[in-house]
Amino acid sequence: MTNLILLGPPGAGKGTQAKRLVDERGMVQLSTGDMLREAMASGSELGQRVKDVMARGELVSDDIVIGLIAEKLEAAAGNGFIFDGFPRTLAQADALADALEAAGTGLDAVIEMRVDDAALARRVTGRYTCGNCGAVYHDETRPTKVAGVCDACGSTDLRRRPDDTEEALRNRLMEYYKKTSPLVGYYYAKGQLSVVDGLAEIDAVSDAIAAVLDKD
Ligand code: ADP
Ligand code: ADP
Ligand code: ZN
Repeated sequence: MTNLILLGPPGAGKGTQAKRLVDERGMVQLSTGDMLREAMASGSELGQRVKDVMARGELVSDDIVIGLIAEKLEAAAGNGFIFDGFPRTLAQADALADALEAAGTGLDAVIEMRVDDAALARRVTGRYTCGNCGAVYHDETRPTKVAGVCDACGSTDLRRRPDDTEEALRNRLMEYYKKTSPLVGYYYAKGQLSVVDGLAEIDAVSDAIAAVLDKD
């Protein structure tokens, strides 16, 4: 069993690669962004509370996301967890280490998906996802085979995120550099960090991630 963190700024390709690992290795994707969007879609009290913060591109509180992850860690781990978009602060990283230890497991790899900031605006403004199965597409680099129809499940419910605008992206990048990027140094110092080139083609990024996971 392998527990993995995918670390990188918005648009780095974390969700795209996490979905492939789910399909190919039977791992379990834990995306706090997806969980928060589900909470909003269900109209729950939590969803109401995070709506405006997310729309602005700011981080929601550590307590909320740590609570969401803790719930999921109690469920079946499959062939390991992929943490996608979590942790995003040092407090979240410490909470994750404690939660994994309490569950009798630990972290096997942290992969930083390194990309160039100038590429992120194009990644994010071209992104759309399937509302039914969560498949991730892009207007230019990864369009659906038939316009308006999900390749994976045939749904026509393709959506764009309200925070995938240039303005919200500026806030999301600022949050990344202020609060999340210190995790790169943190995991490097712990000897757990590997870096892959997130600007490579989707298949090449998958190969680089597989090389890290199969190393030991
Ligand atoms: P992306 O895939 O573009 O990196 P996410 O879907 O992971 O974005 O996150 C969308 C938004 O949800 C973030 O901008 C933030 O408001 C909130 N969010 C998601 N995960 C976390 C987290 N671990 N801590 C705080 N806020 C989070
Ligand atoms: P994240 O979860 O890190 O925010 P996503 O996986 O949602 O990133 O990818 C952001 C956008 O970039 C999506 O539209 C996706 O189709 C596209 N994308 C992902 N990886 C690549 C890649 N290696 N090359 C080109 N486009 C990519
Ligand atoms: Zn679909």
